[in-house]
Amino acid sequence: MTDNRKPPADVFRYAPAPESRSIVDIKPSYGLFIGGEFVDGHGKSFKTISPSTEEVLAEVAEADDADVDAAVKAARRAYDRVWSKLPGRERAKYLYRIARIIQERSRELAVLESIDNGKPIKESRDVDIPIVAAHFFYYAGWADKLAYAMPQSAGRGTDPQPLGVAGQIIPWNFPLLMLAWKIAPALACGNTVVLKPAETTPLTALLFAEICQQADLPPGVVNIITGAGGTGQALVGHPGIDKVAFTGSTDVGKAIARTVAGTDKKVTLELGGKAANIVFDDAPLDQAVEGIVTGIFFNQGHVCCAGSRLLVQESIADELLAKLKRRMSTLRVGDPLDKNTDIGAINSAEQLARIRELSDIGEAEGAGRWSPECELPQHGFWFPPTLFTDVTQAHRIAREEIFGPVLSVLTFRTPAEAVEKANNTPYGLSAGVWTEKGSRILKIANQLRAGVVWANTFNKFDPTSPFGGYQESGYGREGGRHGLEAYLK
Ligand code: NAP
Ligand code: MG
Repeated sequence: MTDNRKPPADVFRYAPAPESRSIVDIKPSYGLFIGGEFVDGHGKSFKTISPSTEEVLAEVAEADDADVDAAVKAARRAYDRVWSKLPGRERAKYLYRIARIIQERSRELAVLESIDNGKPIKESRDVDIPIVAAHFFYYAGWADKLAYAMPQSAGRGTDPQPLGVAGQIIPWNFPLLMLAWKIAPALACGNTVVLKPAETTPLTALLFAEICQQADLPPGVVNIITGAGGTGQALVGHPGIDKVAFTGSTDVGKAIARTVAGTDKKVTLELGGKAANIVFDDAPLDQAVEGIVTGIFFNQGHVCCAGSRLLVQESIADELLAKLKRRMSTLRVGDPLDKNTDIGAINSAEQLARIRELSDIGEAEGAGRWSPECELPQHGFWFPPTLFTDVTQAHRIAREEIFGPVLSVLTFRTPAEAVEKANNTPYGLSAGVWTEKGSRILKIANQLRAGVVWANTFNKFDPTSPFGGYQESGYGREGGRHGLEAYLK
């Protein structure tokens, strides 16, 4: 299964095409957004940096216990006095307004996201921000139709009620998109929220706070508190919240489940994954190669549902890998603000260290490591697109989430073996199936224990489609009609 062909010598060269950052106005420091205004925090502050340059972007307040308490109280007041009393059609107007402002300010949001997170501008511009706006539009549409949302209610005399105040904690891989997944359904259902963005990517959430002001959203309906894990812990443990919505690592998710056990807080957990992307011998190979690349190199592989395990049928493995290596040789790694960049910066030094460690372990355990030749920038955090061949199910790179641009390749001979290997994981968030036969797609999809199964595509997101996991990938669904259930009694 080795391919000794050199990468194409003369890969098409692109001239630099940097997106201007003059559209964003990053302030030297940011406070907390509580009760509709920016206030100073009582805790220390921390710095957020650009992972592609290590430049300090801003000083951000760290919310301590008193700040968390103030935010929860502001959310409660807004819930009791205003938001829970508004008819759905009035809540919808605010959500539509927010959605339109997001569209109007989309370039600013995309540039800021790419600077703070390190992701390529073409992804923040063409994927993240449009789906953020779509989420607000979609849930705005539900706000006055909640009685029709639950199949059992079918609209007859039922009046689903909100839960109250939601404490929401999100990770750094899709900062604004995860915010939208959390805030849009919560508000549509009549809840108010306190949201904590990740420590390394607070800036778009703070810009979203300004958008709430611009939309005249009643004060306290959305509160944004920045900080690290301790702030998240204080939020989860606060007795004044009715619901915890968390997206992040399985370890922190388990800790949160322990904290809320025995309380009457509702919980949804969206955790890690180790998805299998299965390619059968009848698959259209060029199309599959594109899907494999999207599956694992999109967003530097910082994707919970990334197709990080490629399961390829043995008879086509050599051919597929040769095509895949050729395609990987054309991926452009570098400046996130360059419009031609495919792979941006790794989000943090910490995450880079983890990717390096697991990749080194992969090599030490005997897998074959390959990356195309690529020059990495001097400053910032970078990792080349990498694939490992001769991976076995026992290897740590086949079992653990690397959360980086690293693909583990395994082979199989029969469909049954493919399903067995795909399901041999403690996770169960997503999977991909590549084959020409519709009947095979349906049969295999039914046997895969994964919340989302993509067929002849990968990493496609839509607000109308529910998303969530099995087993250690968490519980509850976000998106679609199902996403409303998590915010209604
Ligand atoms: P993480 O360390 O679990 O952090 C997630 C969020 O929780 C961050 O805001 C973090 O704050 C906060 N946090 C940390 N410790 C906490 C605690 N004890 N109590 C409450 N909150 C706490 O995860 P991450 O490394 O940022 O994100 C990567 C993980 O998220 C991956 O495992 C990935 O698979 C998963 N993920 C899942 C989905 C999904 O939908 N299933 C989507 C995206 C990502 P700080 O960042 O400030 O430390
Ligand atoms: Mg940052």
